[in-house]
Amino acid sequence: MKALVKAKPEPGLWMEHRPVPEIKPDEVLIRINKTGICGTDIHIWNWDEWAQKTVPVPLVTGHEFAGEIVELGSDVSDLEIGQRCSGEGHLIGKHSRQSRAGKFHLDPETRGIGVNEQGAFAEYLALPAFNVVPLPDEIDDEIGAILDPLGNAVHTALSFDLVGEDVLITGAGPIGIMAAAVARHVGARHVVITDVNQDRLDLAARVADVVPVNVAKQNLREVEGALKMKEGFDVGLEMSGNQQALDQMVENLVMGGRIAMLGIPPGKSPVDWSRIVFKAITIKGVYGREIFETWYKMIAMLQNGLDVRGVITHRFKVDEFAEGFQTMRAGSSGKVVLDWT
Ligand code: NAD
Ligand code: ZN
Repeated sequence: MKALVKAKPEPGLWMEHRPVPEIKPDEVLIRINKTGICGTDIHIWNWDEWAQKTVPVPLVTGHEFAGEIVELGSDVSDLEIGQRCSGEGHLIGKHSRQSRAGKFHLDPETRGIGVNEQGAFAEYLALPAFNVVPLPDEIDDEIGAILDPLGNAVHTALSFDLVGEDVLITGAGPIGIMAAAVARHVGARHVVITDVNQDRLDLAARVADVVPVNVAKQNLREVEGALKMKEGFDVGLEMSGNQQALDQMVENLVMGGRIAMLGIPPGKSPVDWSRIVFKAITIKGVYGREIFETWYKMIAMLQNGLDVRGVITHRFKVDEFAEGFQTMRAGSSGKVVLDWT
């Protein structure tokens, strides 16, 4: 089979021929139809410090996918050949306290496909049946291929009650934009999204009914005034990983405001803790998706009017993968989807 492999410990990915994976009794074999390129895949392509210490070489990369089950392991009885599916890319252990409590997304033994284990950028993927998420007919393969990052957006956005609340999202990357659409869908009052990249703010405004603010040029306080917000935002969703964005969020939150933090700051970043204490702010770190509660909720929302298709800005045949990665690396695109059919 064709597979996009981190074949050498240096920048790049290489299309190689690999044997089709053999499945274990509790696994299924999935024929991959569409995959999404993630920021994580860009780190692996670039072979940065994180990738060097995390990713074994050689490794089939990729974790955002949709496809169809073509083979069942001998112990799998609750799935069928021909079932269209996506799946949770975090492979969890069963022994930790959190796992045994049913909080699978908090398992410290988690291993990621396409990061620690063989991934989904291939014609076929072996995946534990437990991780498979069947797709209803209304969700096509390209949306199925971005459920992983949509799940990050949904997990973060649903961390706090947003009904009637004023929400500030910092970072209009694909995940921030999808979180904006989710915040709107669940009934937030004002949804303001910030970035320093105008292309991405323009994309955000096309995808969701939000107020885009370019913080390199515009003053957030003036935007709040124009929206007749008196005391600041109720909830912040941090989706940039940028220190200044977090500072700005703390400054612009109401007393007792809540922050769900998905963005990953580079290394140890200074935080004005006294400001957080005196404003009585709650901060929740968000990792991955809730397994499988986030999947359940996002599929239900997609079936009931949540529309994130506009966040997909580029589609490539898999043989044009280099162009797809170049598009992502340029930093102004939305999601880039590769077609393996
Ligand atoms: P992205 O890099 O595509 O988007 C981040 C955006 O933040 C960019 O558009 C950038 O221009 C913008 N930005 C930079 N400085 C800013 C500032 N001062 N104010 C506002 N915006 C600013 O990232 P993404 O793929 O959308 O992911 C969002 C974040 O979530 C990233 O930090 C990513 O690493 C992280 N992430 C975390 C998890 C997790 O499990 N915690 C999972 C996936 C992604
Ligand atoms: Zn991803």
